[in-house]
Amino acid sequence: MSGRRGLLIVLSGPSGVGKGTVGQKLRERMPDLVYSVSVTSRPPRAGEVEGVNYFFRSREQFEEMIRQDAFLEWAEYVSNYYGTPKAFVFEKLAQGRDVLLEIEVQGARQVRRRYPDGVFIFLAPPTWEALVDRIQGRGTEDPAVISERLRQAEQEVREVDLYDYVVVNDDVDAAVERIRCIITAEHLRRARA
Ligand code: 5GP
Repeated sequence: MSGRRGLLIVLSGPSGVGKGTVGQKLRERMPDLVYSVSVTSRPPRAGEVEGVNYFFRSREQFEEMIRQDAFLEWAEYVSNYYGTPKAFVFEKLAQGRDVLLEIEVQGARQVRRRYPDGVFIFLAPPTWEALVDRIQGRGTEDPAVISERLRQAEQEVREVDLYDYVVVNDDVDAAVERIRCIITAEHLRRARA
């Protein structure tokens, strides 16, 4: 498959659906997949590492990156900025590497417009109640942030039509396996083109 661009795989879905866990296991199963580390203005949570989980920047620094057109997409989500550095993603795709973005729905919509060749996967909760439990149970944020995340999640689940695939996260290993199959199938489909 040399000479071909890699696949841009966009894994999205509502807050609390388990994108992080599924993405992490997917990367373990597919070590050649390149993970795009996002930039955020949110402060680090306990255990998060600069350059591994995120690049942590101030709002001012983030806004400067917007002005420099450094992002493939960016969004303001629950009062913080999140964005995907463009140069890194395009460099890896040009090298034929598959790149994984784990981003929220507004960002996925922008990538859809700017890079329609991507593979867009919506990770869905088994039920709305399961999602509410997950968001409330995370326990890392104050009640105002939790209710804002719930409000966002309600809007996000309505955006499902934007995506090529919907994968229900009823079981992490099963969800990872479904995504792995999607990536394999997309490679085969494009190899014929
Ligand atoms: P958290 O604060 O929980 O790490 O992330 C909040 C939300 O932002 C999650 O849905 C996460 O997937 C999303 N997110 C992380 N990085 C990016 C990014 O670069 N762009 C966008 N649009 N969303 C992101």
